[in-house]
Amino acid sequence: MALRGSCRCGCVKFEIDGRLMGVGNCHCTTCRKTQGAAFRTRARVRRADFRWLAGQDLLHSSESTPGFHRGFCRNCGAPVVNWNTADSEYGRRNPAMLETYGIAVATLDDDPGVTPGFPEESVAARADTSPNQAESL
Ligand SMILES: [Zn+2]
Ligand SMILES: [Zn+2]
Repeated sequence: MALRGSCRCGCVKFEIDGRLMGVGNCHCTTCRKTQGAAFRTRARVRRADFRWLAGQDLLHSSESTPGFHRGFCRNCGAPVVNWNTADSEYGRRNPAMLETYGIAVATLDDDPGVTPGFPEESVAARADTSPNQAESL
């Protein structure tokens, strides 16, 4: 069954027809600053499983490190999807990640049926808050 999601104002809508991967809470400084919260709950989805239903034109992004885009609704500011481009450090190291989006789990309107864990990568790599770290979705 597809999972639907939307931004706070409802102008951006999407649907995911596939598995959520790497559901976890990221506590890195950039996620905390971006969310204005103690952590960001995120998951990865295959881009092939992700469909825009509305408002894709409202998606803006901010590059928090080169090639790592944090996408948000231009109208309400809600975080929606993040992605790496091929020139990002993480994308160069993990080309398979270029086929995925990171989504803000809180934007889902349907119950994803998963509980955020603490993936190894978020504990190991993200504990380092130096500005040059490679960001993953
Ligand atoms: Zn919005
Ligand atoms: Zn983070």
